[in-house]
Amino acid sequence: MSLVDLQPAPIAFTAPLSRPDPPLDFYDDGLNESIFPDLPPLRHGHPDVHLRDGILAGHALADPDAEPAFFVADLSQVYAQHLRWRACLPQIQPFYAVKCNPDPYVLRLLAALGTGFDCASNGEISQVLAVGGIDPSRIIFANPCKAVSFVRNAARQRVDLMTFDNADELYKIARAHPRAQLVIRILTDDTKSLCQLGIKFGAPLATVPGLLAKASELGLAVVGVSFHVGSGCYDPSVYTDAIARARMAFDMGADAGYRFTLLDVGGGFEDTHFEQAASFLSDAIDMHFPDRGEIKIIAEPGRFYVSKAFNLATNIIARRAPLTDAAVDGAADQPAVMYYINDGVYGAFNCILFDHQVVHPYVLSMGGSFHIAAGEPLHTSSVWGPTCDSIDCVCPMAQLPRALRVGDWLGFPNMGAYTVCAASMFNGFQVSKVVYTTGSFRAAEVRGILAKFAEDIRVLEARDV
Ligand SMILES: *Cc1c(COP(=O)(O)O)cnc(C)c1O
Repeated sequence: MSLVDLQPAPIAFTAPLSRPDPPLDFYDDGLNESIFPDLPPLRHGHPDVHLRDGILAGHALADPDAEPAFFVADLSQVYAQHLRWRACLPQIQPFYAVKCNPDPYVLRLLAALGTGFDCASNGEISQVLAVGGIDPSRIIFANPCKAVSFVRNAARQRVDLMTFDNADELYKIARAHPRAQLVIRILTDDTKSLCQLGIKFGAPLATVPGLLAKASELGLAVVGVSFHVGSGCYDPSVYTDAIARARMAFDMGADAGYRFTLLDVGGGFEDTHFEQAASFLSDAIDMHFPDRGEIKIIAEPGRFYVSKAFNLATNIIARRAPLTDAAVDGAADQPAVMYYINDGVYGAFNCILFDHQVVHPYVLSMGGSFHIAAGEPLHTSSVWGPTCDSIDCVCPMAQLPRALRVGDWLGFPNMGAYTVCAASMFNGFQVSKVVYTTGSFRAAEVRGILAKFAEDIRVLEARDV
């Protein structure tokens, strides 16, 4: 392929656009009011409808090449994951890891569903408490290395449950929050995970007795044990070993004169391996904690709840032929064309760098149509972000239709975890906005849960005034 072949796309989305779904206004049946007046509207309908509507809305603007990329968040997916959690792990209360995606609707839905929250900073604690209706006892400050001012702030906010894995942390807590309820974070095998956390956090079992002795000497209350098998754990059998270690830490607690009542099994849950992980975990808990009468079990899932709930729509803003011999030769294993889209690794796709993700584009619209024929001829392509940095590669290799042009749209599924939250505005690019929908899975239920929660908060606030 030569650059001559790279013709611009025809201006798309004019009158005879094929459109299988009704327009957004169709859903505006009076139920589309904002349940939370300060948040963007909560829409109805399948996320695909909103992906298409967002594309059409972009094209209503004057400049077809300047459409912003946008997310569509399907809250019913978050609800579906919660039901899955409750079905598989009814004895474990999830404390959602806020860092994974502190989206205001996600936080409200989970709060309404009764989860707790795993916060790592003052900012996350404030964000969760600002929702209203969430008691500080539903927060675990699960960062084992906190600035002393953060510990002091937690005390002020009545957030008592917090993790530690080193002696300095104990001195800080003894000074700044002596009534804290401490959880010792132990080191477990995290080699089967995308993001290994053990290189930074977790007390090796050998150090646990010393730490507990120190805590006891300082008069601190240690109430339980936590671990994290690493984020994006692809071998669920690691929970078995982790629970065995937690058992040993419980016994060390008894030796130090503590009576632990909390087991925190951390995060790491993956969508695809969830049922399997849940079964390993339940079996291990039954084996090592057979008579767990007074022991409360919690977890800190992040990714599991939100990954599937967010789709990202990106616009192809430029395209060119790569300057390699392979492109000239048309070798199938080398990209024949480079597409540039309007979000990249400094934005939503930071998950590629920080979270070791591999993302997969699909065609949302091409040549003014949402219908992509199954037999479209493909070619090997690469997909790049909009910044001027060459590290900004979204997808080094993808099979995409030959007919794809500037102005067409690419979608990316599973963009809910570790994406929006770490996006930067490097090079002056905006962070992609989110369109919210109750989706298509028990949507009325999701809306009802949120509406009731909003009402409960209003009642609480009226009472406090
Ligand atoms: C990041 C993190 C989590 C969430 O991990 P996931 O893999 O997203 O489930 C939970 N707990 C702690 C302490 C974390 O740092």
